[in-house]
Amino acid sequence: MDDDKSLGPVRLLRRLLAARRGDVRAMVDVYHLRGVLFFVLVFAATIVLPGLLLAYYGVAGIRAQQRAGAAEVERVATSAADNFQVGVEALFKGFEDGTLNRLKSGQSVTSGLRELSESLRVVFRYDGEGKLVFPRPPDDGEGLEDQELFFFAPWQAALHAERQGEFTRASTLFAQAAREARAPDLRGQAVYARANTAHRAGELYLAEQLYTEVLTGYAAVRDAYGFRLGDLARLKLGELRLARDPVSGEASVREHVEALLAEPWIIGRGGEAAVARRGIDLIAGRANPEWLGRARGRLEDRASQLFWAERLLPQLETLGAKGRLLPMAAGSFSYSRTEDALWATTWTSQDQYVLGLDLDAMWAQVGEIAVRAAGPESDVVAVVRGPDDGEPAAPLARRSLAPWFPGWSVGIYPRDAEALRQRQAEERQRGIGIILLSLTMIVVGTGLSARLVQRELQMARDKSDFAANVSHELRSPITQIRLKAEALQLGLAPDEASRERHYDVIVRESERLSRLVDNVLDFASIERGRKRYTFRPGDLGTIVARMVEAAMVAMETRGMDIQLTLPEDSPVVWHDTDAVSQVLTNLLSNAAKYGQEAGWIKVDVTSDSDEVRVAVSDGGIGISPEEQRQIFEQYYRSSDPLARRKKGTGIGLTIVKYIMEAHGGRVSVRSATGRGSTFTLHFPLRPPRPNA
Ligand code: ADP
Repeated sequence: MDDDKSLGPVRLLRRLLAARRGDVRAMVDVYHLRGVLFFVLVFAATIVLPGLLLAYYGVAGIRAQQRAGAAEVERVATSAADNFQVGVEALFKGFEDGTLNRLKSGQSVTSGLRELSESLRVVFRYDGEGKLVFPRPPDDGEGLEDQELFFFAPWQAALHAERQGEFTRASTLFAQAAREARAPDLRGQAVYARANTAHRAGELYLAEQLYTEVLTGYAAVRDAYGFRLGDLARLKLGELRLARDPVSGEASVREHVEALLAEPWIIGRGGEAAVARRGIDLIAGRANPEWLGRARGRLEDRASQLFWAERLLPQLETLGAKGRLLPMAAGSFSYSRTEDALWATTWTSQDQYVLGLDLDAMWAQVGEIAVRAAGPESDVVAVVRGPDDGEPAAPLARRSLAPWFPGWSVGIYPRDAEALRQRQAEERQRGIGIILLSLTMIVVGTGLSARLVQRELQMARDKSDFAANVSHELRSPITQIRLKAEALQLGLAPDEASRERHYDVIVRESERLSRLVDNVLDFASIERGRKRYTFRPGDLGTIVARMVEAAMVAMETRGMDIQLTLPEDSPVVWHDTDAVSQVLTNLLSNAAKYGQEAGWIKVDVTSDSDEVRVAVSDGGIGISPEEQRQIFEQYYRSSDPLARRKKGTGIGLTIVKYIMEAHGGRVSVRSATGRGSTFTLHFPLRPPRPNA
């Protein structure tokens, strides 16, 4: 018998040759090998190949996805940068075109600034010689008068009298001050003060006369607050006339306001604006609302421009001193920047215009464009960077803001670089995880299938061994029995003693034969699921004792000693007597077979509250831990040469296991190679389930 179960290439060749010669076992092997090859082919075609393709396309898919992700971010970044640039270009183009259109059509660019740009605060206009003509800087000598009047005795007395309500006296004193004042400015102020006193006292005629005198004689004189006396007097006259004749009064005030608004404005002087506002308020109840709105708008514009001109002019002058206000082609724009302003300069044929854009407001507008360019939901943000902001991290995209913001640029960055990276890494990991899982499953599946095939193959070999073993096992007792019977028949046993020996052999061998036949028949009915047992409560110790006694004679002839230990109280369990006898016969004959050299067998019956145990021990060859799991499988015979020397069929323990399970119990084994084995039967105390 060929015990080598592995099929290396050389062995395979030998098996093939043996099969050709008609070796039945080799033919079985080759038959099964063909089955295995077929299986491997089918397996490769249906699982491994698709698995590998899946992995290949999976990896390619992940790569493509990652590339697409990166390209998408880049696309978003580029489009955000383009949007931003287009937005800023549109902002400046609108502003420049608006300005040029106004200049070409002869409209004023020095009013209605917000219509040109939200950020435009002031427009400075220079003439061909580079002299600032709008808003006008104050002339030398146009400064405020000192407060000399307050130290002038008649003036003080007049003020005092007026506070007391003594208007006549106050009027006389103001007249005296006017006479005595040497400087025309002081004189003018005294006349105006006297006019006011007369007005307050109700002497309207005198008041009108005096206001007219101021208007004609001292119009250009400015009072301590920078107001022109002419403006103040004209306003007063308008007020007086309104009371007398509303229609012509209103016309005269309106005319006065318009004149004030048309005047060139002087930086640092708010008087004209204040008088104009007072005038507008005077006729607010009567005047045309459209006129009122326009006048108020111009007034606001003027006040705001004067405020900004005062603040920004020094910065513009530093820029001019640096030679930045260069003559250039009419209609083109150049840009420069100071601390608070972005300056846009343009020329017409005669004049240069410098438009001061508030830098903060400008940034706010540019910032809005940046937010809109990237979109609120997008993964990127636009960041505007100046020349002093240091070296920025590499942006996804970048656009220069020249020429409007020289040295400035906008960079597009991931809104949350870490989150973006993490999302990409997660996507990659998920993909790889799925592929690895699939591959692992394929590998595990392959391993399991290979094992299954191996076991099938093993089983097929065991089965073919079984057939050979059974025929062998049958033949030897039959031969023995026939030999001894023939010897007896032919009278070849001369004396009583030798005849006895012949009878013994015949009895022993026929017992062995019937054991074998019992086992094979039982196994067959177990395999077909036909085996039925009849359980009755009974004393287990008695059966064990009977079986041990029956075995004893056979053991002794083999020179083996058998010991039985029973508990004092014989335990009662539900069992099938024939089946239990068969179980014990199998265990005892195994112990005798594989433990013969040690020469002893022990049988111990013990019990506790749960179960009754019958342990059959020998001191024989033992079983390796690996094989301890397999010996209960059908047809399994050990590959250990020591065990192989003994005859057997590989179904004894399978029957034991089956019968014990039918009893609701189990069989366990404890063994060490070379040191013997103990097989223990565990019978539960409760009755087993009846056969299905
Ligand atoms: P066999 O007819 O081969 O004895 P069994 O099913 O009774 O079949 O046993 C299966 C295998 O278990 C045996 O081939 C043997 O290797 C091993 N075996 C069973 N009992 C013992 C034992 N008492 N000592 C050592 N090996 C044993």
